[in-house]
This record gives sequence, C-alpha cells and structure tokens, in this order.
Amino acid sequence: MHLCIVGGGSAGWMTAAALAKKFSRKKLQITLIESDEIGTVGVGEATLPHIRFFNQTLGIDERDFMRKTQATFKLGIEFIDWGAKGNRYIHPFGDFGDKINSIDFYQYWLLANKDKNIGRLDQYAFGISAAMANKFSIPQVELHDLKNAFGYAYQFDSNLYAQYLREFSCNLGVNRIEGKVVNTKLNKNTGDISELSLNNGTRVNANLFIDCSGFRGLLIEQALQSGYQDWSTWLPCDRAIAVPCEGTAPLTPYTRSTAKEAGWIWRIPLQHRTGNGHVYCSQFLSDDQAQHSLMEQLDGKALAEPRQLRFTTGRRNHFWKNNVVAIGLSAGFLEPLESTSIHLIQEGITKLIELFPAFEDQQTQSSTFTINELDIKEYNAQMSLEYERIRDFLLLHYVANDRDDSPMWAYFKNMALPDSLQEKLDLWMHRGYIQRYQIGAFLPPSWVAVMLGQNLVPHDVDPRVLAFGTDNIRTRAYAMREDIKLGLDQAEEHQAFLDHYLA
Ligand SMILES: Cc1cc2nc3c(=O)[nH]c(=O)nc-3n(C[C@H](O)[C@H](O)[C@H](O)COP(=O)(O)OP(=O)(O)OC[C@H]3O[C@@H](n4cnc5c(N)ncnc54)[C@H](O)[C@@H]3O)c2cc1C
Repeated sequence: MHLCIVGGGSAGWMTAAALAKKFSRKKLQITLIESDEIGTVGVGEATLPHIRFFNQTLGIDERDFMRKTQATFKLGIEFIDWGAKGNRYIHPFGDFGDKINSIDFYQYWLLANKDKNIGRLDQYAFGISAAMANKFSIPQVELHDLKNAFGYAYQFDSNLYAQYLREFSCNLGVNRIEGKVVNTKLNKNTGDISELSLNNGTRVNANLFIDCSGFRGLLIEQALQSGYQDWSTWLPCDRAIAVPCEGTAPLTPYTRSTAKEAGWIWRIPLQHRTGNGHVYCSQFLSDDQAQHSLMEQLDGKALAEPRQLRFTTGRRNHFWKNNVVAIGLSAGFLEPLESTSIHLIQEGITKLIELFPAFEDQQTQSSTFTINELDIKEYNAQMSLEYERIRDFLLLHYVANDRDDSPMWAYFKNMALPDSLQEKLDLWMHRGYIQRYQIGAFLPPSWVAVMLGQNLVPHDVDPRVLAFGTDNIRTRAYAMREDIKLGLDQAEEHQAFLDHYLA
C-alpha cells in the first residue's frame, strides 16, 4: 500500500511522522513531496497541551525537541482589552479551584463573590498565578493537588518543528521527494486521484493521498473541488502581518493577545526571538495602518521584514473526499487566537489513524486496499464538529464584551450568532452551566475562563451550591489559595527553569 503526502509544512511532516510510527514500512510505504520553491507558510508558533501527547506517542524526548525548536513553555494566553478596554485575563490550561461535592468550584466562587471577599477567580488556577509571576514547574499530576492541576503547551519555531519531524520521519523510512506537483490525474470511473506529475518529470502513484499543500488545497480543492464553507461573516479577520523581533526579559511563559480596533496582535516568546503578528479585518483597517500598529508594539528590534498573509476563515465541505484527506491549512483555517491550527492537524491525524482504510486482508494477510464510505462520513462529521466548536469559541471572544468603540466591534454587536454558540451563551447566562461535549478542543474550564475573564457573569448559579454556605466556601477557598502559594514558592523563574532543564 502506498500513501503520498503532498506538502512539507508542519501538517505534512506531522502526518508523515505519525503514520510512519504507527504502520510498519513494509506494509505502508510513505512518500512526501515538498517544494522548496513554494516553501511553507512559516508561521504557527503557539500550541495547545495536546501536542505533548502527540510528541509522546512518537517517543520524542521533550528536552531534545525543545532545544531543537527553540521552544519555551506556555501556560496559557493573556488577553488584553478583550472584555473591555483595560480588561486583562489569562486563559490557562486547567481548571479553577477544586470541585466541592462534585460541583465545579467556579459555581461556589460566583456565589461567594457576590460579597467580593474571595478574590479573583484567577487566584484559584496555578497556571495563571505562575504565568503572572513568570514562573514554571512541570506539574506532578499524580499528586492530585491544586498546585499540580494544570497543563502546559509550547511556543516554538514551527519551521524547526517541521524540520525536526522530517528527520524523524525519514529515519523511519519516509521517502522525501523535492519537487513541484504540476499535474494531477484522476481515475475517470471513480473520481479518485491516480497519479501526480512533478515539474522534474517524476510521476507518483498512490492508493491514498494526504493533501498538506497549505491554503491552496492542491488536491482536495483544485483537483477534487471539495468546496469551501466561508465563515467570514462570523470571523471577518482576513489578513495578518507577521514579524519576529528580539526577545526581551523576562521570558514570559505565555502567549499574549491584545485586542485592537480592527483585530488583535499576538506576541509569542521563543528562546531566540519573539514572534509577533497583527490579525485584522481588511474592511476596517488598511495594510499600512495594520503594520504601523504592529511595529509600534514590538518589544525589541525587528529581525526581518514584516510579511503579509491573507486567508478566508472557514473549512472545506469535505475534509476527506474519494482517496484524498486534507490535513492542515488545506482543510480549513481559523484565526490563531487560541492557537488551534496545529491542534487541528493533530486531530486530523488521530482520526485518520482511527478510521484508516484496511490495507491487509485479515484472513490471508495479503495486501488489499479498501476505502469505505462509512469511514469517510464519520471522519468528515467529526472534523466538522472540531472546526465548528473552535469557531464558536473564537467568536465568543469577540462577542462577550462591552466594546463598540470602532466599526469592527460595532459589527460584532449586531451579529446573529451561530445557533450552537447562542444556545451555549443562553445556558451560561441562565445558571452558569456549560454544555459538555466529547469532540472539541475546549473543555468547560476554557469557556469559563473566557466568559468570566470578559465579565460575562451569569444571572444565577447552580442552586446546589447554595446549601454549602458562603463561610464554608471562604474556608475552602483560603486553603486552595494557600496551596497555590506554596506551589508558586517552589516554582522557578521560567528562564531559569529552561536554562537548567535544557542544559
Ligand atoms: C497568520 C497565521 C498565524 C498562525 N499562528 C498559529 C499559531 O500560533 N499556532 C498554530 O497552531 N497555528 C498557527 N497558524 C497555522 C499554522 O501556520 C499552520 O497550521 C501550520 O503551519 C501548517 O501549515 P501547513 O503545513 O498546512 O501548510 P504550509 O506550511 O503552507 O505547507 C504547505 C506545503 O505544501 C507544499 N506545496 C504546496 N504546493 C505544492 C506543490 N504544487 N507541489 C509540491 N509541494 C507543494 C509547500 O512547499 C509546503 O511544503 C497560523 C497561520 C497563520 C496564517
């Protein structure tokens, strides 16, 4: 069985690495085609904690990976000016406080906080306290205490990550071809892709093709015409300007997003530099204005010329069509407000492995290859939910606020929300309840972090917390804060931790 991946960005090499690790090279031959002339999108530096499990599955050593990708630790994202001008909060990777009688702590906090006696909710998440103090420690989750109840991700150079995985994959037998795909041949009967032609005359046949060709969607769109659901009515930002600059001390263990009049600016500190970018709506801001506002916010000297990227938020109608699966930017794009693109690549790969077409006859163990429509349908349904739920979560940031100080913010005030988000908001406002789901990157604590971080306070709380009494809540809350303080005393400065961890 032969599988061909087109594209050598993070998506292509993550896919190659995972499939090469999963399947024996004798049974699954993998070829990856990438074009140096076209290059990669070259941005994508902040991640979600799930990437740790991706790396662990590959058997990658954390220290080696962090050294080679110039990675830093990430405890969350700081959002500035999102809820209102002057508002700031951190969306951490983890919950707030300990559950009491199996009920989320934030419900007790909402009740007790009416007296304003138990401090900001932030104080009950170790990840936030550590981030604000520029400190880091590796959580010892087996201890099951609050000071270890947090997750972490990385901020890294995504080009270096792709290179790292390229070496990893080639060591596992992935065949890399440098060249540009110039023609795609379709099987007239099935509509499947049967062959790719490269500019150097090479022809590549395969049973299954993975389209990791970036925004252009070379196979899924240009050849198979999957179609695209345009979500820019809800997420109208359509451009970004990116520029790296010199890093400055202290090295913050978090990404920052600052809301602006027509978009937002990211700041992502790596070991060797800081990544910056301005995501904006071109209908409300000119390119020059966007660049000016980015450059005046840099911490240090710019290290390259600013680069512009254009995109349309949305997703393909079909992520998997015929014998092509789109992973990465070829599958869709959601602005990087919550660092979700690399996570979506990971989800695409995980689900593909779960639903991978049979390529060996179970009785005779001879090779065979069958793609079942049921697998395609399930894959597409699950990936659609992944994208839609992230879309709703991103949109939440734009609508849960008091801002109407510019045309973009006014636009969000008058918007009809997707039903899925409206229902979620209604339930929250009614009694602080968060719908739970199995598929989707963001668990209830993330929704709580953004909603309360942006001052969206529900009208009522879960009535079950009333019986506990505010005095009892205060006592428990005090013990939680003490536990976090202890953890904070034991944690090191982020830079110092990195220095000895990676030495
Ligand atoms: C402004 C911006 C900020 C972002 N920030 C983040 C972030 O903080 N966190 C995050 O998780 N993600 C982020 N992303 C997304 C992230 O950059 C991508 O998800 C990730 O880099 C994967 O890209 P890719 O591999 O799908 O595509 P690309 O990097 O574009 O790679 C495409 C590959 O296909 C090859 N190719 C294309 N056409 C051909 C052809 N004809 N023949 C041969 N090869 C071909 C190219 O050479 C290249 O190797 C951001 C994206 C943007 C636009």
